Amino acid sequence: MANSDFINRDLSVLWHPCSQMKDHESLALIPIKKGEGVWLEDYDGRRYLDAISSWWVNLFGHANPIINEAIKQQLDQLEHTLLAGFTHEPAVSLAERLVEKTPPGLNKCFFADNGSSAVEAALKMSFHYWLNKNKGLNKNSGSSAGTRTKFVSLSNSYHGETLGALAVGDVALYKQTYGPLLMDVITVASPDCYFREEGESWEDHSIKMFSHMEQVLSEHSRDICAVIIEPLVQCAGNMRMYHPVYLKMLRDACDRHDILLIADEIAVGFGRTGKMFACEHGDISPDIMCLSKGITGGYMPLSAVMCSDEIYQAFYDDYVNMSAFLHSHSYTGNTLACAAANATLDIFEHDNVLDKNIELAKTMKAETEIFWDHPHVAEVRQTGMILALEMVKDKKNRLPYPWQERRGIDVYKFALDQGVLLRPLGNVIYFMPPYVITAEQIRTISEVAYQGISNATA
Ligand SMILES: *Cc1c(COP(=O)(O)O)cnc(C)c1O
Repeated sequence: MANSDFINRDLSVLWHPCSQMKDHESLALIPIKKGEGVWLEDYDGRRYLDAISSWWVNLFGHANPIINEAIKQQLDQLEHTLLAGFTHEPAVSLAERLVEKTPPGLNKCFFADNGSSAVEAALKMSFHYWLNKNKGLNKNSGSSAGTRTKFVSLSNSYHGETLGALAVGDVALYKQTYGPLLMDVITVASPDCYFREEGESWEDHSIKMFSHMEQVLSEHSRDICAVIIEPLVQCAGNMRMYHPVYLKMLRDACDRHDILLIADEIAVGFGRTGKMFACEHGDISPDIMCLSKGITGGYMPLSAVMCSDEIYQAFYDDYVNMSAFLHSHSYTGNTLACAAANATLDIFEHDNVLDKNIELAKTMKAETEIFWDHPHVAEVRQTGMILALEMVKDKKNRLPYPWQERRGIDVYKFALDQGVLLRPLGNVIYFMPPYVITAEQIRTISEVAYQGISNATA
């Protein structure tokens, strides 16, 4: 078997995600035969260093022996069971461990099966929370007056592709087309530090930008179910970053205005930012936290919506009072996925992962210093194991290349030729590697990106 054996078969039946399929008339698909550690290998025997963790999901390498073994063991015992009325050991263990590892107060774990569905559940849960709370208040009048219906999110945010998640997101490329279908949300200017003024620190810029949030929360507090944010890094929004002080200010404001805070840690959770969860950088606990992607080490679809006792209790009532959260997905808390997630947490516990990541992040910083002087790189920014390079036409004025030129794709193609999988977001080239990458491999991806950017901007 060779790559070419698959490509025509694939193109005659498969519709790929997030792709203009016509691009594949000139851009070859890459059929992957196997993976090992940071490497993916195709049917022609060519290897690619997975510098983006296969869309940010992989933590400890492909075909990781520990996770493989855990899944094999579980497979012979039980592959899946419904989670309504039934339960299983991998789900219970995982929920216990997530409660312990997530910030204090997140004491209940609701499983779903992918990131977008976790966001949907979080939105419905926070809407329904206020409804249930107000039911108590309106008991005598029987009215549903004062129902909260609004969500607040940041500009340039991304929370998934299903209609509710898309509505609270703000990346025009994914959202605009479907605008007429989407619920109305309140969008607040992002603290995105790419737009700070010259000489302004990340912290000062983030503090300054918070005034927009404060204003919205004080004006609309009675209508708002929740604020949803991606802590520290807006990943799909071109890896734009902000300072943890914003998290602190937001937590404080949500408390003052009595509004729920949802932290979408789907991309940044599980050690990506240097701590287990990004919220820890601001020393805050959200009311709801969405987890997915790295949760199974990149093996299987699974997500978790962690929430406070207070939220859980608002739904806990006699059935006839109709307060239950009647929300489910068929594969909720899949047994094999939970086994993979438990094995992933085992690795965190035994391998000193967070300390190692701090060292790897330092290496990433050092190996990308060369980009600071690149004539077409306006910014090198980093939060832990996420490092992004902003490729621009005019460095001095931070003028971007027109998106129609698709220069990121030139970098993508060049890197593939060199055996590195980079998948730029528009004009932003980023590294988000598996945690098993070595210092030498970080140097390789950095050198390849440098050459790729130089060629694409020549
Ligand atoms: C990827 C992502 C999602 C959506 O997860 P899917 O599993 O792709 O549906 C939601 N929020 C953030 C921050 C993400 O990065």
